[in-house]
Amino acid sequence: MTSGELQDWADRVAARDRRAMGRAISAVENGEVEAAALLKLLFERALEADVVGVTGSPGVGKSTLVEKLAAEYRRQRQGVGIVAVDPTSPFSGGAMLGDRIRMQSLAADDGVYIRSMATRGELGGLAPTAHDVVTVLEAAGCRTVLIETVGVGQDEVQVAHLASATVLVLAPGMGDDIQTFKAGVMEIADVFAVNKADRLGAGKVQQELDAMLTISPRPDGWRPPVVQTIATTGEGVSALCEAIAEFHAFGERTGLKRQRRRQKCRGRLLSLLRQRLFEQVYRELRDGAVDRWVDEVLDRRSDPHSAVEAMVRAGPGQ
Ligand code: GDP
Repeated sequence: MTSGELQDWADRVAARDRRAMGRAISAVENGEVEAAALLKLLFERALEADVVGVTGSPGVGKSTLVEKLAAEYRRQRQGVGIVAVDPTSPFSGGAMLGDRIRMQSLAADDGVYIRSMATRGELGGLAPTAHDVVTVLEAAGCRTVLIETVGVGQDEVQVAHLASATVLVLAPGMGDDIQTFKAGVMEIADVFAVNKADRLGAGKVQQELDAMLTISPRPDGWRPPVVQTIATTGEGVSALCEAIAEFHAFGERTGLKRQRRRQKCRGRLLSLLRQRLFEQVYRELRDGAVDRWVDEVLDRRSDPHSAVEAMVRAGPGQ
């Protein structure tokens, strides 16, 4: 692809051409050769968006809530991107949930872009390419990007590395007793949404959260607000938006926002570095070299550490 064609592609993404955006995201996800060159051009055009992570156990109402949140941000005339992170089925290798048909109410809105991403079984769930997908959306003028993760495994914790604010959604009667919640998950919440507030038990969840927040305050001084929502009707959604905005304002005031952006940037650079170095070494290994080392270790003629050291040492023509 010529540099003129790349420029043209980037221009079309910036003009919110859906096909150009879709192709850009696919190129990023599939690690196509043009992706890095395109991302460089897009980064120049990207205004950093507020990235809001929405996480919680399956069934608590995340999709419904994200749809309503997106509509709320659209009322503020903002471009909105939605990234739904799906766990890849180990059997089919495809995204399990596909594009969320439940978000159909937004489909006709030109200012909303919805995309599912598969986690590909990566340790940590969230595909490392998610950062780059956010860059594509930012270049296309999305001022808010909502990232919805299916609450399995490490996704909930990983999303916090990508988000400028993380909303943890709970619901009464979901077996999400605060006491039994996985360690590490509660800590990532900047805002709590107690969804299904129309159901019995929402008050109890709120009380438990309040008690927990009083017993263990955050070291950064932010007390995560607890907002009751009914995602199906949209009740409480504007209050949830306000709570998220308050957290962002707190971050601006105290320097927490910059600190988080720095951490995120660092993580992104390190993960790119890791990937680049891996690719370099991998490319230089001759066909079959990995499998030869697998056999060496399998038959205990070598150990895994020595095998990897040898692979790293191997130059071209090994
Ligand atoms: P997710 O798996 O967390 O994305 O949850 P969904 O958004 O798919 O919602 C799961 C089910 O709960 C759906 O049938 C929703 O219609 C329903 N639901 C979502 N929010 C509410 C709510 O506030 N109240 C009630 N009663 N049902 C809700």
